[in-house]
Amino acid sequence: MPALSHRTRGFTESVIRRMTRVAQAHDAINLSQGFPDFEPPPRLLAALQQAATAAGPHQYAVTWGAPGFRRALAAKLHRWTGLDYDADTHLVVTCGSTEAMMASMLAVCNPGDKVVVFSPFYENYGADAILAGAEPVHVALRPPDFAFDPEELRAALAQGPKALVLCNPSNPSGKVFSSDELRLIAELVQEYDVFVITDEVYEHIVYPPYRHGYLAALPGMFDRTIVCSSLSKTYSITGWRLGYVAASPTVIDAVRKVHDFLTVGAAAPLQEAAITALQFPDSYYEELLAAYTSKRDVFLAALDQARLPYTRPQGAYYVLVDIGEFGASDDVAFCEWLARRVGVAAVPGSSFFREPVRHLIRFHFAKREATLVAAGQRLANLRQCWAEDHDRVAMT
Ligand code: GLN
Repeated sequence: MPALSHRTRGFTESVIRRMTRVAQAHDAINLSQGFPDFEPPPRLLAALQQAATAAGPHQYAVTWGAPGFRRALAAKLHRWTGLDYDADTHLVVTCGSTEAMMASMLAVCNPGDKVVVFSPFYENYGADAILAGAEPVHVALRPPDFAFDPEELRAALAQGPKALVLCNPSNPSGKVFSSDELRLIAELVQEYDVFVITDEVYEHIVYPPYRHGYLAALPGMFDRTIVCSSLSKTYSITGWRLGYVAASPTVIDAVRKVHDFLTVGAAAPLQEAAITALQFPDSYYEELLAAYTSKRDVFLAALDQARLPYTRPQGAYYVLVDIGEFGASDDVAFCEWLARRVGVAAVPGSSFFREPVRHLIRFHFAKREATLVAAGQRLANLRQCWAEDHDRVAMT
């Protein structure tokens, strides 16, 4: 048989999504791949039922998004960012922000171009860069506050990259970039003439006193920022695969072409139903944040109870937990053991870091509080289980 392409050799399948399969195999509570175990808003489900009737729509939407959906999206973006995105020229509706990021990367990068990526980073960006033939240049976000060194960022930008990827709020660290950091990034990318591809899927999950700043709204940044986001996390509909790119008409023209030949379009009945969500009042977002704040507090209390050290997330719904004390040299094996023996699935930290980090694992807490409490009870046994299974004395 002929050889397969070189393109897919440089990366593995997603570790995050593999951990979901590991969780299922061991019947573990799945705190690995971040998605809710609670229902989407009832008003949204009612709209979906309506779209499921003969009224539909059931045929292709306009490739770059159903007009009604794009209009509702432009209005929602205006409400939150204050920016005027034109529904016809500034938006492409994609199959989740996964496609939005990939299509953006393919639209701006030539093979051999460099792309700046902060580390730790959401694992898709590595594969996105490789598939686009681009070379990632990493800039470290250093624990505990995951701040970056401005000189390191400047040095990376001085290498002449085409784009910088900014995940804000950040997965997996839970970092929310401060307004000073965003201003500095904006200044530097303008100085070095670099695009920013943002991933803002957790924009509505930011815990006070932290606040989400929209980079595109900073002076000079509207045309330079390629905003990628989705409805998955904001409306608890990760399976609907509805995302979007918001950018200048020139960028959007190129993204549309990639999107057209990659997926044709996002599901038409789901776009129709999701218009309802985009029109939710402010109170919806307040309730969402209150619910996630409470989930965060419940899960962090469980980690305290289990005496597991962690970095307190400022946004998103992930927490990095330090497992250094267990002396495991292989965090992947640790997570497999954790799922099998303790019954809680996490993602090994090494899948997010450029650096050789093996002492962190990531849990997500987008779960019902009862699920989080149950996970906490299991985690309280972690030390005991580890001591029983390993020679080293870990019972402190
Ligand atoms: N963003 C989610 C996570 O980090 C996963 C998203 C996905 O699997 N597409 O767990």
